[in-house]
Amino acid sequence: MNAVNPAFAGSHDHRSCISHALGAAERLCASQGLRLTAIRRRVLELIWRSHRPSGAYELLGQLSAEGHKPSPPTVYRALDFLVAHGLVHKVSSRNAYVGCMHAGQDHVAQIFICDGCSLAFEQADGALDRRIRRNARDLHFHIREQTVEIAGLCPDCAETGRDD
Ligand SMILES: [Zn+2]
Ligand SMILES: [Zn+2]
Ligand SMILES: [Zn+2]
Repeated sequence: MNAVNPAFAGSHDHRSCISHALGAAERLCASQGLRLTAIRRRVLELIWRSHRPSGAYELLGQLSAEGHKPSPPTVYRALDFLVAHGLVHKVSSRNAYVGCMHAGQDHVAQIFICDGCSLAFEQADGALDRRIRRNARDLHFHIREQTVEIAGLCPDCAETGRDD
């Protein structure tokens, strides 16, 4: 599923992104005997409110505003679960989290993040992944985690010259 570019294609039916993501999460949890608890599900939904990475404290604030009042460790544990099972990606350069566009598929993500509007778009280029693994082998380097993050401007922001 690398065809369209929902994040950078301007307007799109984001509700279908959300229902696709939640459906993928439910299928993955069911097939692996994992529990998509209420808090895990809600955190995933909040992350999927947009294609902009969300910080843990932003999520905590949204949950509190809804009356959930979870503790920070509860939110971090939910995030750890979602990351561990490939439902969201951690965007280290932003210390934030974004929904995975290829949940349930074995892949390594490359995440393009706009400096102007913070939109993030994920690709899963297997050839790039294989090349990085080959290079790591040559270096006798053991990869623990591999997410390539690319900063720059999305088409809209590049056009309007917005980069602040
Ligand atoms: Zn969307
Ligand atoms: Zn992904
Ligand atoms: Zn942008």
